[in-house]
Amino acid sequence: MKELKELAEEYPICDECIGRMFPYVEGKNNRERGRLVRELLGLPEAKECYFCRGIFQRLDEIAKKLDPHPYEFRTFVLGTVLDEELRKREEMLLEKIGVVEGVESLKKNINRELGKKIKEVHGKEYDPKRPDAEIIFYTEGERFSVHPRPLYFYGRYRKLAPMPQSKWPCRYCGGRGCEKCDYTGRQWKETVEYYVADVLLPLTLGKDSKLHAAGREDIDARMLGDGRPFVIEIREPRRRNIDLEKALREINAHGEGKVEVLCLKPSSKEEARELKSGNFPKVYRAVVRCRGGIEEAELEKLKELEGKVIEQRTPERVKHRRADKLRKRRVISISWKRRDRHSFELVVEAEHGLYIKELVSGDEGRTKPSVSEILGKECFVERLDILQVKGGRPCTG
Ligand SMILES: [Zn+2]
Ligand SMILES: [Zn+2]
Repeated sequence: MKELKELAEEYPICDECIGRMFPYVEGKNNRERGRLVRELLGLPEAKECYFCRGIFQRLDEIAKKLDPHPYEFRTFVLGTVLDEELRKREEMLLEKIGVVEGVESLKKNINRELGKKIKEVHGKEYDPKRPDAEIIFYTEGERFSVHPRPLYFYGRYRKLAPMPQSKWPCRYCGGRGCEKCDYTGRQWKETVEYYVADVLLPLTLGKDSKLHAAGREDIDARMLGDGRPFVIEIREPRRRNIDLEKALREINAHGEGKVEVLCLKPSSKEEARELKSGNFPKVYRAVVRCRGGIEEAELEKLKELEGKVIEQRTPERVKHRRADKLRKRRVISISWKRRDRHSFELVVEAEHGLYIKELVSGDEGRTKPSVSEILGKECFVERLDILQVKGGRPCTG
């Protein structure tokens, strides 16, 4: 305490800053501990604290400088960025008197006390677990910036027309809009993500979207049944409370029967991550055509694929964007129905990530075993639909 007395004669120090240096002194908070120590030493009250530059003495005035607009949020976390000068003063304070364990840093102390003030002045809740927004306080110029956390919505989509799943910016302009893309910024005018985001972005006044889904289907494959689970992330939303039922109706009107979203529910980053990393089995229906025709009796041979682990080298058609490696996926069940002399319908349930087109064609020996190999003739998928993605929250009930 002798060191504090010497220090305080040269550099005025406030009760809050004294208190955070003396965690072992009794008192219910820094301010009270600081006052006790100060009175014990017979020090005067500091006019403007050298170590926090008077921040703790002007919390109310500072909190009022925060303008929460244009963002709508209820809960927040606060972070503080110290300027160089305050960092140096903090170092000096710690060196001189803050050598005991449990000393609280200036940053942490500001975050808590200013946080309380913001709650009081603006009626927002401090919530480090689920903050709607992150507020940054810069001691330099005593100003704030507000960063809304993304919004997440869960749904399941059906896709009834050929289109990619995610947004696909124009490759010439990167999405800004140019002559090549008719100033839409889009390489593909229609994607599942665009249909959903085109409605949600204006409603939330968000800046950008990102679709997280449990796998994806080929552009020309339909997604049927009870749809594929997805989470759409809306970045930097200005509005957080939107009518989800109304949004859902608008999405489905916009989707024009090409994209149907079966429900829209509040979601989270965690759910987005689960969907992306989860292993959801899929049920596929393929129309398969074989050169030289196919007989009912021959199709019986396909039974041997059931329960089989299929070894697939990265398909020729996706090799340009994916590393060549071997993947092993199991066929869970398989059934078929002959359509005519040259084609049949195949229903396959498989572990996630099995390439069905290659399971049928064999991809010139890169997939083994395959339908072509087993039947001893060249077969290929004429059309492919996904009937079911097993997993994710249901939309009904
Ligand atoms: Zn201070
Ligand atoms: Zn363009």
